[in-house]
Amino acid sequence: MKKDRVYIFDTTLRDGEQALASSLSVVEKIQIAKQLERMKVDIIEAGFPVSSPGDFNSVQTIAKEIKNCTIAGLARAVEKDIKAAADAVRLAKRPRIHTFLGTSKLHREKKLRKDQDAIVEMAVSAVKYARRFCDDVEFSCEDTGRTEPEFLFRIVEAVIKAGAGTVNLPDTVGYTVPTEFKRIISSVFANVPNIDKAIISVHCHNDLGMAVANSITAVECGARQIECTVNGIGERAGNCSLEEVVMAMKVRQSLLKVDTNIDTKEIMRSSRLVSRLCNMPVQPNKAVVGANAFAHSSGIHQDGVLKEKTTYEIMRPGDIGLSENQLNLTSRSGRHVIKHRLEKLGYGEKDYKLEDIYTKFLELADKKGSVYDDDLEALVVLKEGASQDTYSIDYLNVTSGTKVIPTATIIIKSAKGLVQEAATGDGPVDAACKAIERATGISVNLTDYRISSNTGGKEAVGCVNIIAQYGDYRLHGVGLSTDIVEASALAYLNVINKVVRLCEVRKAKKKK
Ligand SMILES: [Zn+2]
Repeated sequence: MKKDRVYIFDTTLRDGEQALASSLSVVEKIQIAKQLERMKVDIIEAGFPVSSPGDFNSVQTIAKEIKNCTIAGLARAVEKDIKAAADAVRLAKRPRIHTFLGTSKLHREKKLRKDQDAIVEMAVSAVKYARRFCDDVEFSCEDTGRTEPEFLFRIVEAVIKAGAGTVNLPDTVGYTVPTEFKRIISSVFANVPNIDKAIISVHCHNDLGMAVANSITAVECGARQIECTVNGIGERAGNCSLEEVVMAMKVRQSLLKVDTNIDTKEIMRSSRLVSRLCNMPVQPNKAVVGANAFAHSSGIHQDGVLKEKTTYEIMRPGDIGLSENQLNLTSRSGRHVIKHRLEKLGYGEKDYKLEDIYTKFLELADKKGSVYDDDLEALVVLKEGASQDTYSIDYLNVTSGTKVIPTATIIIKSAKGLVQEAATGDGPVDAACKAIERATGISVNLTDYRISSNTGGKEAVGCVNIIAQYGDYRLHGVGLSTDIVEASALAYLNVINKVVRLCEVRKAKKKK
């Protein structure tokens, strides 16, 4: 281990995912995991395997498919959880079991109802048990920020002795301020005799907007792993944001004297992918990845930037992979132009089928005129997700108006062939959704419907995001089209396809 290297532990798929209004499908999780791998994060926390069969399955699939990152599975400090995590990450090239236990007085007394000795014993046996399956074990002292210092030193020393290679000290409730967090982390370094045998990690929440500041403070005290998420998504106000903490260490390297392995040029793409798949928009003034992060509005600033960029710009847009020139693509653009553009956006030939994307691109260009980078990227991202879909729309016709009953006719394509159905509804979107339900035999309960434009202009592509309930599951669907009824139908079918996969996973699990 290099002393000045800070390891980036990404928990977008665990802490981030658990806070979403609807869970991600396995296919979506793999898309995100592959992008995290491309961005060169060190550790991907892929999920909490014991929590559900779906979570187990996605952790296992990610463990199989991702080769260049450590894959961690979360487990409470109990054997059942640890066994599930061990099984799920077993096939990873570099597996890790991450087990945690509440250590603050509040957690010990109110939640776990155990005294200090019992907590230490539970932590030590959890770490030892996890080490039976895996050499790489991380232990988290949940609610470190509110744990009594003497007890914290004792438990950290004990779990390191038991074989934890990484010890995480989370500010679980986002309560501490940097000066206070500095005292906590440096006191651990000063008072735990075997501290040099483990990497100290931090996991800061953003309830008071101090997650990044606290994480950087911890690094200054000697912490060498930061747990964070793309766009800072996560429980409540979210986690330490990956792009902010990484860019802070890059831009202020001469001061902080640490480095990460992150390929920062992949930051923007990761941010867009996570925002799109998680249905979590990024605020325009968000540090690093917000739409205005590199926009200069005041005349004095604009004048300064034009004369010398560094007057008001502390990092370059290119550093995070933001392309400066927006090339307009039209139906006259050939395949090689599309390929070249996608390459600029970071997509290699293996990421998509050129023929498929080109056909979709031409359809879009015919309807819309100009196709922007964002549109093109959306095609690739959604196409990649749709490649394993059971159903697709072959034909859709909707009539509506002031004096007609809204009616939709649809032809749905699947491996079994074509199915034609028609339905009426309260409006054109309702009619289209009902026709889809009839054709597929699956119905869900729509709980949220949102429409936005993907890119600017009158001919913008409509992006429909829906949340639907299916039994106990909340699912997110997205559809893109210049026609909003079609975009709605695509979003609805996206959810139906997720239901099909969900049922397959549950069936497979039952057979086991
Ligand atoms: Zn957390």
